[in-house]
Amino acid sequence: MRGLAKTSRSRGGMELVDRDRPTPGPDEALVEVDYVGLCGSDAGIYEFESAFERMNLPTVIGHEYSGRVVEVGESVTKFAVGDRVVERPIRGCGDCYQCEIGESNVCQNAVITGVDHDGAYEPYVAVPENALHAVPDGVEQQHAAMVEPTSIATRAVIQNSRVRAGDRVLVEGPGPIGLLTAQVARAQGAEVVVSGVGQDADYRLPLGEELGFETINIPTDDMDAYREDLTDGVGYDVVFDTTGHPSGLPSAVESVRKGGQIVLIGQTGETTMEYSPLVRAEIDLQCSYASMYEDFENALRLIDTGDVDAETFIDDRFSLLDADEAFDTFVGGGTCKPVFDVSELR
Ligand SMILES: [Zn+2]
Ligand SMILES: [Zn+2]
Repeated sequence: MRGLAKTSRSRGGMELVDRDRPTPGPDEALVEVDYVGLCGSDAGIYEFESAFERMNLPTVIGHEYSGRVVEVGESVTKFAVGDRVVERPIRGCGDCYQCEIGESNVCQNAVITGVDHDGAYEPYVAVPENALHAVPDGVEQQHAAMVEPTSIATRAVIQNSRVRAGDRVLVEGPGPIGLLTAQVARAQGAEVVVSGVGQDADYRLPLGEELGFETINIPTDDMDAYREDLTDGVGYDVVFDTTGHPSGLPSAVESVRKGGQIVLIGQTGETTMEYSPLVRAEIDLQCSYASMYEDFENALRLIDTGDVDAETFIDDRFSLLDADEAFDTFVGGGTCKPVFDVSELR
């Protein structure tokens, strides 16, 4: 079979490579992959950012996918041939202190599918059964490919934020995680606004509008006027920073109300700012990273109910046979959540 792998330690360097179909171990299921998404971290691998220098190459990438069980190992009990499934791709070791206390998302030895071992930009993957979730009947197979990024948003909003009905919420960054976070926050009863900059005006902010959100384009719209208008000058109860940009946190501090909360999801690198205003306004600064079992289950249910609108969100224009086009378009902001049909590689 063929898989799309990162093959060189520089920008680009994605090639189709030959792989043997994996054989499932005793506690593993062999999954035939149907659809796989392109994630911001896959784009990070494409650009070969420093976080991915640990990778052994070539490695087949891809971790946001849906598939069907086609074979099971002898000790597998929870899944059977024909079951539709998604994988939890960031997995704890089960042994370290954090895993023992139920915080496997911040495991000291976590491994990530599509980074530390071959991922799902190929037709078959072998997966431990305890990393699989069953897809509900009401969720289409293509839509299930976006459960993993949705689980990042359900963790950030449901587990890690204080968002409640009636809250006024700002989501900074209209990328995949931003627009999913916005939808999950709205499902809690909040009134949600999404902000973006520059190239976001081409595709991502209009997609936010299509999903039903008021959007702010920072270079051309007056952020302060929106804040005044939408929050009666008080500020947003909760601001989610999904930008991954050094301006995200400082601008969240300007937007949040006194006594409000900022939830950091994007990985910004370095930023410099004055911290005293945070303390004097008693801002609650909360981080959210990765996701766990319950976050996946919540994500599946919100896609099932339509609170997360997969149909509008997914962009199926691209092919794994011309992945450079998808990656370059993604990096340029011309798409938000490409989802590939993996049957092309069979
Ligand atoms: Zn992802
Ligand atoms: Zn661990």
